[in-house]
Amino acid sequence: MVKQLANMENDALKLIRDNGGIMLQSDLWKKLKLDSREGSRLVARLVKRGLVKREETLVNGRKTYKLYVMESNKESSPIVVSLNSILNIPCVTCIYIDQCSPGNFYEPGTCLWLDSWVKKLVNHK
Ligand code: SF4
Repeated sequence: MVKQLANMENDALKLIRDNGGIMLQSDLWKKLKLDSREGSRLVARLVKRGLVKREETLVNGRKTYKLYVMESNKESSPIVVSLNSILNIPCVTCIYIDQCSPGNFYEPGTCLWLDSWVKKLVNHK
């Protein structure tokens, strides 16, 4: 069920994006084959999550809503995460990593290797 909702939200966002980032709410419901109750709930979830903005408008004298994909969600560009800052962390090559956890002899809170690495990192900034 949760997956279906997520898929429906993704489909809705894609349809709006493919339409230039703007779409009438009623057109979205039609394309997704949703009734007004389901469609309203879907749009409410998207608005609540900050993925779309809803703006009242008149079409042929009838009140409806325009949906706008929020700027940060217009393109589904991948998030680039750099791992450079943690490549040299001693835990990556530590032979004690399987035994290391809070309360054990080897633990991150008292580890001199980790402490030394953090200090070097801070001093290089
Ligand atoms: S915190 Fe220290 S002991 Fe634990 S895995 Fe990292 S380097 Fe090894």
